[in-house]
Parts: sequence; structure tokens; C-alpha cells
Amino acid sequence: MENREYVFAENEGKLKEECGVFGIFANDGDLDCASLAYYALFALQHRGQESCGIAVNDNGTIIYHKNLGLVPEVFNEVVLNHLKGQMAVGHVRYSTTGSNLRENAQPLVTKYIKGTLTIAHNGNLVNATRLRNELEQTGSVFQGTNDSEVMACLIAKERINTHSVEDAIEKMMDKLIGAYSLVIMSPSKMIAVRDPNGFRPLSIGKLNNSYVVASETVAFDAIGAEFVRDVLPGEIVVITKDGLKSIPPKKQCDTSLCIFEHIYFARPDSIIEGASVYNARKCAGRFLAQEHPVEADVVIAVPDSGIAAAIGYAEESGIPYDIGLMKNRYIGRTFIQPTQAMRENAVRIKLNALSAIVNGKRVVMVDDSIVRGTTSKRIIQLLRDAGAKEVHMRVSSPPFLYPCYFGTDIPNRDSLVAVGRTVEEIGELIGVDSLGFLSVDNMMKIAEGSKCGFCNACFTGEYPVPVEEARKENESGNKDRKFIKVLGEE
Ligand code: SF4
Repeated sequence: MENREYVFAENEGKLKEECGVFGIFANDGDLDCASLAYYALFALQHRGQESCGIAVNDNGTIIYHKNLGLVPEVFNEVVLNHLKGQMAVGHVRYSTTGSNLRENAQPLVTKYIKGTLTIAHNGNLVNATRLRNELEQTGSVFQGTNDSEVMACLIAKERINTHSVEDAIEKMMDKLIGAYSLVIMSPSKMIAVRDPNGFRPLSIGKLNNSYVVASETVAFDAIGAEFVRDVLPGEIVVITKDGLKSIPPKKQCDTSLCIFEHIYFARPDSIIEGASVYNARKCAGRFLAQEHPVEADVVIAVPDSGIAAAIGYAEESGIPYDIGLMKNRYIGRTFIQPTQAMRENAVRIKLNALSAIVNGKRVVMVDDSIVRGTTSKRIIQLLRDAGAKEVHMRVSSPPFLYPCYFGTDIPNRDSLVAVGRTVEEIGELIGVDSLGFLSVDNMMKIAEGSKCGFCNACFTGEYPVPVEEARKENESGNKDRKFIKVLGEE
């Protein structure tokens, strides 16, 4: 156990979503597609903070800019002024497959027999390595290490023998296993695609006469677009100057949207498959209060993702909600990470406890999840230092027990604090007076009004698609192997 503690201290952090995607096909002549993509990506920034990019299509010529960094770091007015076109595809990325290299930044722009192909991808393929190996055997070459190149290569190959790019995409989909929400731009079309399980969200909106697609509806709100509908799992949506055409799902299977989109990844002001993310989080809090009641004076949240669930817990329990932890909102990517000696203080730089609220009180602290446990332990210590008499932690998801292979960075089992421990043992480790997790049964009911089924594999081990290939690759340690290193990049 001592060794595991060391791992926790080194790697602790919140889980990260892999990516956010956006696309616009302008049918209104005066639209500035690049600027709209910029604002949309800004609204999707929570889905990826390592790199971003925008590609525009100017009558068949692709102009793009992408780099490591946040949206306002990578783009400025001068860059956006050079990105003029009638279509745009945007992407924000956090790397889970493919390391944090500049060449893995998206959108991916490639040239093929019919012109150019631009791809923005959210998700993770389970069989990407095998597909890549097969393609390499037939002479294909790859620049980076991400799944999107594999997909671009498959589309390019299929396009030789098909009548249209959408036919080639349909054939590619027959080969893919895993999670993919895609925005693809060909010389004259924009195409939105979702995998048959619908692991990651993807929605269609309209801005006057122009269509937009985005990972989350908050991107539409940011640019004044109206939500039209979600892309169906397995559907291919083709947008041209003549409007929108749907190629319906080829195979029917049980849908499995990532339930963690509702618990943590998505922004609370988004609507996914008809369900409000904010309401889902509040509902999780209400269920938590029913499952794990406690006598207490105040309910507080770990900001920001625990806030809605804490309000739900407070409403259901009748215990008042208040702000017990204050977050420093100005810590950017360039913040100098604390030295080893300062690491224990790291959480104090990001969060501070309000002694005016917690001093002498019995506190219920609500957070969305516990991954490795170290951050929770430090936050609980903050509350005790600020005078909290009792700290009862309530978690708006069940304990993580299995890794995710679909585009999030839930680590291997030996890093998950809940593996091999009872709830009481976890509580003891992080130093709470009591600990309660949301049950799987109630978690599956939080997205009221949702039109889809859910993946809950990281809690139950019941994966909606076969994951053997990805599991073996993870265990072999090959997944993150870097075959080419660029000086100055990690
Ligand atoms: S395994 Fe967990 S994080 Fe991954 S898609 Fe399924 S529910 Fe989401």
C-alpha cells in the first residue's frame, strides 16, 4: 500500500475528456466561419486543454492553424483573419491516445485522391493499433500516433472504389470498434458521424440558413445557433449547399452514451440526448441524500463539478447549501507546478476553505468522483484545518473499478483507490467521518428524459463492445510508446 500512496501523490488530478469537435457549413454569404469556430471552441474548452485547431475550406483549398495550448493562446485576430472560407472544422484536444505532440493536434488535414480530407475526432478506437498495423503492411505511412490518421487512411483507401466520400465513410465504419464522434470536411461537404453505440455526444444546430455541428449544445449557445437535433448513434449526416441528408444507422445496437458525460465531463448548461446535464447532476445529489443521509449543518461542493449535485443533496436533505470551498479561477496551463517539497501545498493554491462557513460545523462535502484519492484527502484536511467539526463526503458517482478504453484517462486498476478496498477503508484513507457513493442503479436513472442507453463500464466492468485488444495493449505498455521524439516535446 505504501507504494500505491506514492503513485497517488505523483499522478493525482481530475479525469480528462479527450476532445471537443465543431463544424460549420455556411449557407449565408457573410458568415465568418473561423471566428464562429473560435467562439464555439472556447465554449468547448473544458473538453480538451492541450491543443486546438481550426481548418477552413475556401472553395476546396484548406487553410488551417493548430498548435499546443488553449484556444485564446493559439488563436488571435491576425490568425483568424487569415482563415477565410465557407466551411470550418474545429477541435480541442486532451491526449489519451497519441501523446501530447504538436503533430497530434487536430483537425487532421490530409490530401487524397479526391482532394483534401479534414477530420476532427472525439473518442477512442479500441482496435486502432491492429488497423494501423494492417494499413502499414500495405504500405501506408503515418505522421502521428492518433486514431484519426487511421480513419483518414481507411477513408482514402475506400474512396478509390466508392462513389462518394460518405460511401467510403460507411465502409470505414464497418471496420471500427470503439468511440468516435467525427466532423469530416471534404472539398464540398461537411459530414458528421457518430459510432453505433453513441459513446460521445454530437449535436446538429442551425445558424440562420447554415448548419453547425458540435460535441455539446453550449457551443451553439455561444454563437447564437439553435439546436436542431442530436446525430443518431451510427448515423452519417451529410451537409452540402443543398441542405442536410441523413444516412441512417446501418446496424442497430444498444446505445451506450458515456454516463460520465452527465456526471462530470460535459458542461452543466449542455443538453445531451434530451437530458439537461445540470438536472442530471442535481438528481444524482438527490439520490445521494436518499442513499446516504447524515446529520449535518451545511452541504458544500468541491467546485465546480460538485456544485449541482451538492445543491440536489441540500434540497433533498433539507440541510442548507453554502460555499465552503473557494476555487482560484486564474490558474492557467502555464502555472508553474509546485516542486516536490511544495506538492503537499498544491491543493491550497487551487482551493481554499471558508472558515466562516465550516468552522465548528458538521460538513457534508459533495464531489463528482474519487479516482486515486489524494486530492480528496488534501481537501478534507483543508476543511479540518479551517475548523470543520465533522466531514462527511458524498460522491455523485459509484467507485471507479475498471479502466476506460473510450477516450477518457481513467487509469489502470492499480491506480484506482477503490480497487481492493471497502468504502470504509477508502474513507479511512482519505480521512473522512463517513463516505457514501451513488449506487450504479440510481446513477442509471439520473438523466431524466434521455433518449439513449448508457455505458457504465468503468464502474461495472461491463463493456458495451469487446475491449480485449485495447486491454492487451494497455497491459503491454505499448499504448503510449513514442517511436519518434521531437526535441522539446514531452
Ligand atoms: S468506461 Fe466510464 S468513462 Fe469510459 S465511456 Fe464508459 S462510462 Fe464513460
